[in-house]
Amino acid sequence: MTQKQNERAVLVAFGADLRLADNPALAAAVATGLPVVPVFVWPLEAEAAAYAPGAATRWWLHQSLSRLEERLRAVGSRLVVRCGPEAETLMELAQESGAGRIFRNRVYAPAALAGERDLTAQLSAAGITIETLQGNLLFEPGSLRTTNGGTFQVFTPFWRAVWNRRGELRAPVAAPKSFVSPERWPPSLRIAELGLEPSIDWAAGLCAAWMPGEAGAQDRLRRFAKNATAAYDVERDRPDHDGTSRLSPHLHFGEVSPQQIWHTVAEWPGAESYLRQIAWREFSYHLLCAFPQTVSQPINPQFRHFPWRRNRNRLAAWQKGRTGYPLVDAAMRQLWTTGWMHNRARMIVASFLVKHLLLPWQEGAAWFLDTLVDADLANNAMGWQWVAGCGVDPAPYFRIFNPVLQGRKFDPEGEYVRAWVPELAGLQAEHIHEPWKAPPLVLAAAGVRLGDNYPLPIVDHAEARAAALAAYDAMKTASRREEKSGER
Ligand code: FAD
Repeated sequence: MTQKQNERAVLVAFGADLRLADNPALAAAVATGLPVVPVFVWPLEAEAAAYAPGAATRWWLHQSLSRLEERLRAVGSRLVVRCGPEAETLMELAQESGAGRIFRNRVYAPAALAGERDLTAQLSAAGITIETLQGNLLFEPGSLRTTNGGTFQVFTPFWRAVWNRRGELRAPVAAPKSFVSPERWPPSLRIAELGLEPSIDWAAGLCAAWMPGEAGAQDRLRRFAKNATAAYDVERDRPDHDGTSRLSPHLHFGEVSPQQIWHTVAEWPGAESYLRQIAWREFSYHLLCAFPQTVSQPINPQFRHFPWRRNRNRLAAWQKGRTGYPLVDAAMRQLWTTGWMHNRARMIVASFLVKHLLLPWQEGAAWFLDTLVDADLANNAMGWQWVAGCGVDPAPYFRIFNPVLQGRKFDPEGEYVRAWVPELAGLQAEHIHEPWKAPPLVLAAAGVRLGDNYPLPIVDHAEARAAALAAYDAMKTASRREEKSGER
């Protein structure tokens, strides 16, 4: 007799969907009418490495799992936590619970997708069925196609396709009020035993900035929707204002679904501009599934010849927010303290790393993955490749942000810099983005000692720009040479 014929319970395996409301896997498990055993399996370190969980996301995951456990207890259930190889651990849990079916929402990381088939085969050999549902995206990757049936590689037509098919989006479902629990629970680890929290306490800034978990996500969505106006389109470019939703980590961990967001904001005046950003997230997942190598390799193969200049000191200056360019430094320090950075600032610091410092984009992407609370393989790879000019639909390479002009335009009063670079707080707006040009008396009055309490610029903008363009030409020459030698 198979496990399924003798079924006493069903499992629901949580992953990137740490919520009870609008959770298709949970809803399907509850609909069976059988006792539901909610589980979370943390893969062993080797397996987990494939998901690249950085320190900041591990901190978030610990908090989020704790909130999920509380939510489940409030409806009379529990969260059974285990650590181990995924297939074997799920199999053990199914056998201990007498479950013949496991429900879960799909996780779109390359390693998870590659392992999906193996997992299904291993479980089915043991008589256990795994039913995967679509819980974390609006549309299944690959389900939106160009008129020729290809993968969209340009965002605007992709967005048009999303918009045209918006009528197909499911309406979000409420969280189950209660569901049947097993008579005996399988044993569980304590969440703390997963070792996700930092051993030294560096997370005070994260605690102050965020409220991980489903309630925190709903609270942020409510507040954003309440204050949202048509001005989002302009406000979203201002790092000195609180004009974006800051839902990215909540979306990354699935504490809120994109459907819930879509249905909440669809009617407000600035909706289309905001929903376009949600569609960028979709686009990045569609690209990740079509080009899994995008996480570490340039999509444009010409960039394999780019003459990067690896330099540890420059990388460290960028990471610590000590480049001497106030806007770049403010952004890198915001990231370090809060685990988040404004989108405009992400574009500027990424451009500075790859074009001013000529450091490989992968080094910047790795730092982001370690320090962002919303670190997300798909969005991060797309963002970095877009800025570096090597992805699909990229920014043209010669678009090299001038950090001073960007500062004047998007932080005109210097408030963002003042918030994160206290050494410069005494400077007036006209000098704050270019302190090295301020008269000595002005610097002295503001307590700024360049090269002492605040660095001089580590590169000159005009020289760096020329070097970046020369490197780009060298790449094209090398790539043409390779093409020709291949032809011979
Ligand atoms: P809002 O403006 O409120 O947008 C709402 C949601 O739309 C976001 O939460 C996010 O899910 C999505 N979104 C918005 N802009 C983008 C975008 N450009 N690309 C993809 N999705 C978007 N986002 C991440 O979630 N994780 C990352 O690791 C990440 N790395 C990035 C790296 C670089 C170099 C760049 C340029 C961008 C990166 N982004 C990443 C995209 C973007 O910066 C963040 O999603 C956004 O700043 C999050 O803030 P928010 O929630 O207030 O955004």
